Amino acid sequence: MQNSFPIIVIDDDPFFSEVVRQVLLHQGYEVIVSNDAAEALDIIQTTQSRMILCDWMMPDLSGLEVIQLLRSCDKQYRYFILMTAKNSSDEVVAGLSAGADDYVTKPINKIELLARIQCGMRIISQQQEIEEQNVTLKSLAEKDELTGAYNRRYFNQALSKEIRRARRYQQPLSLILADIDHFKNINDQWGHQAGDDILTEYCSIQQGELRFDVDWVARYGGEEFVIVLPNTSHLKALQVAEKLRQKVELNSFVTTNVVLNVTSSYGIATLDETSSCDLSDEFSSLLKRADERLYQSKARGRNQCTGVIHALKAMSA
Ligand SMILES: [Mg+2]
Repeated sequence: MQNSFPIIVIDDDPFFSEVVRQVLLHQGYEVIVSNDAAEALDIIQTTQSRMILCDWMMPDLSGLEVIQLLRSCDKQYRYFILMTAKNSSDEVVAGLSAGADDYVTKPINKIELLARIQCGMRIISQQQEIEEQNVTLKSLAEKDELTGAYNRRYFNQALSKEIRRARRYQQPLSLILADIDHFKNINDQWGHQAGDDILTEYCSIQQGELRFDVDWVARYGGEEFVIVLPNTSHLKALQVAEKLRQKVELNSFVTTNVVLNVTSSYGIATLDETSSCDLSDEFSSLLKRADERLYQSKARGRNQCTGVIHALKAMSA
């Protein structure tokens, strides 16, 4: 669905801007007028407007400066129509070179102005479609279709970035490898649909326990997930894993054909345990340690978490 937005009219002449406002209102457009360019910049940001009619000559900021300012910091595509008495060829070129999309001369011809706005709206509409398609394509390329977790390809790229960031800011980075116990039996006994339902719910329990926009989950294999916890100590990561384990154990998983209880096992590793300087070494070492500890959790009877604290205890026992 495409966004609707008001048209922003910026002109230091209140009489002229009111005339334009009336013309646009009459056509059913929502309009916000500002007679002050600096104020208009705020309005554009807060309303997310994409259609801006801007006067060239204004006392504090000129129309060209407004356009250049927004173009330099904006990720969103906006359509700018300059309104001015300047109409020489050089001036038109200067206006378009500064980033304006179109140009109308004062006194305004109402029909021409409306036609130019419609033309701009068509371009904005196509741009919005492309943006929406890009979001969908990005999601398809990065996410696991069943669970909505990131896929392994995303994990491989993003973990390297997390490791680099952790090193740069000298922060710990923890990783939890999580696996649903005896998952094959669930598929065999209750069918793949029940298995899929459990995977989806399991993933959503994980997501619910993590910090929004900081921690993230990827589906690593069939019933195996990897949880990445930036700026998280090993002890804290163990606590997160234990909380997840308990949540899963207490949860009744409602599938299309049966309600089931399942358990899960966890292996936890943290970046600050090693002083290796090679990025690929750190990447594989982190995963390897988490994988070994997940294996220990399984070997010790499943439904448990293993981290370095457990590993040290086991060695000294
Ligand atoms: Mg003016």
